[in-house]
Amino acid sequence: MSNSPSLIIKSVEAIPVALPLKKSMHMAGVVISNAYNLIVRIETQNGMIGWGESASAPTMTGDLLPGMVAAVRDHLAPLLIGQDALHHAALMDKVSKEIYRNTGAKCAIECALLDLCGKALGIPVYDLIGGARRLCFNPMVLLGSGSSDEDLHDALSKQKMGIEFFKIKVGARPIQEDIAHTLRLRKELGPNTTLCADANMGLTSSETVAYCKTTESVNLLFFEQPLRSGNLNGMAQLASSISVPLCGDESITAIEDIISLSQAKAIQGVNLKIIKLGGISPVINAAYICESLGLSVNLACKVAESSIAAAALFHTGAVLPNLDWGISVTNQYLAEDIVLDPIRAIDGVVTLGRKPGLGIEVDEEKMRRFTIDAK
Ligand SMILES: [Mg+2]
Repeated sequence: MSNSPSLIIKSVEAIPVALPLKKSMHMAGVVISNAYNLIVRIETQNGMIGWGESASAPTMTGDLLPGMVAAVRDHLAPLLIGQDALHHAALMDKVSKEIYRNTGAKCAIECALLDLCGKALGIPVYDLIGGARRLCFNPMVLLGSGSSDEDLHDALSKQKMGIEFFKIKVGARPIQEDIAHTLRLRKELGPNTTLCADANMGLTSSETVAYCKTTESVNLLFFEQPLRSGNLNGMAQLASSISVPLCGDESITAIEDIISLSQAKAIQGVNLKIIKLGGISPVINAAYICESLGLSVNLACKVAESSIAAAALFHTGAVLPNLDWGISVTNQYLAEDIVLDPIRAIDGVVTLGRKPGLGIEVDEEKMRRFTIDAK
């Protein structure tokens, strides 16, 4: 009789939740007050539980919560039940082929499988996915309250807590106001704080040029997704006319997009999200491709995801060959997290420990209180 462990999957549950934000996030074209996320709970026959989470993202992946629930419940769960979770890579091959796109649903499943495997083997997920290159992170914080005064107040108070890396959300108000806001933040935060900006596709080419030229003295680390996602030529023209490096976010829905944008010289770096590429493994693959293409890498959660997704992102960030444009998680923007010991920065630093799996303990009763009907 074999002594090898097995983790036979008994159930796969898709749980739709609405998690309220502490305050609304103002981005180009959208104001987010609640995070409509999919939680995936996989239980094995021996009573172990693995967790995954993905945000719905209508303007990014196109994933809507009812569709994410249906993808897991009707298409992906039947593939997994009765299978051994330790065969996670082979299972994800099946999952990725079963339905087109639906990257959020696939991502939440992979996270839950890896959480389970790590728990069963007594090792952190980063040990399962290649081994850690870094365990300490200085995460960046988003500034997107919609009010310049409030953003400045937030940034100054975070700076006192050791945070020295901010992403300014632009494109949701007249460009002259974004310019004044950006210059003001640099002046008040001082020269040593790292600043970048993200327009979430909300600008025209001429607005982007005006913004980047006028804020040259701010020394933005990068400028993210000024134009619509399909506008590859526009991004390439912009890249040749401004000095700030361009980062692709919404325009990257698959590894092929990274290669196309790089070949067109439209970007100098990428924002990778596990919900966009369909899980942790595709993001690791993408990061190695970025390494060979000479692209910078920023790793980010969607606004907003709980400590489940934040943990998955840090474990991913631990193993990437390069993370020079930083990492941002979004659980701190939620009014309430759904784990017992939420992930947080201490003196500006998040440190991954050696707890098995994703290293988080979901407060299931609390999580269930945020469940909504998403048929
Ligand atoms: Mg972005």
